[in-house]
Amino acid sequence: MARYTGPVCRLCRREGQKLYLKGDKCYTDKCPVAKRNYAPGQHGQSRKKLTEYGLQLREKQKVRRFYGIQESQMRKYFNMADRMHGITGENLLKLLELRLDNVVYRMGYASSRAEARQLVTHGHFTVNGNKVNIPSSIMKVGDEIEVKAKSKNSPKFKELVENHRGSTLPWLEVHPEELKGRIVAEPAREDIDIPIEEHLIVELYSK
Ligand code: SF4
Repeated sequence: MARYTGPVCRLCRREGQKLYLKGDKCYTDKCPVAKRNYAPGQHGQSRKKLTEYGLQLREKQKVRRFYGIQESQMRKYFNMADRMHGITGENLLKLLELRLDNVVYRMGYASSRAEARQLVTHGHFTVNGNKVNIPSSIMKVGDEIEVKAKSKNSPKFKELVENHRGSTLPWLEVHPEELKGRIVAEPAREDIDIPIEEHLIVELYSK
């Protein structure tokens, strides 16, 4: 399935909440969800009561849109999460959080996950000293993620060092002045701030 390339704010309006897909704009009053908090399209303002299946589907779509992943990848992560010890829904979110593009975003080196994905694809990051340009790579505890030496001199990353807002996530150690960071623990459910009822996704995929 091809990646969605249409207007991303439409996705937030479809889910009825901010998915923070556009970086800084999401924190301003220009955010369309703040102005028009109803679904896009001709029938967007008509209220429909969702069925149980509808609720499960919306929750799954929301997670896919948050992390910018395709259905086939989502299913793959669910199967991995299902085989892990612990609660499947939490395992699923943990795997998504540990994707390289999300880690770069969480470290504050990109303003959105989409930007993080692009930076990774363009080869600006190393993991444990090796260039990695696959945004879906799953990181593990102890991995060190760093901006490639050559990229550190680019105006973009120089500006980032000056304006970095820091990170307070307990599972990430971030050193903005060196443009690097390390995963010090697996993310716990309470560290993942997305408003998702993951058990609905597990129910959907378990049918
Ligand atoms: Fe979503 Fe951000 Fe667009 Fe608001 S500005 S609708 S949060 S992507």
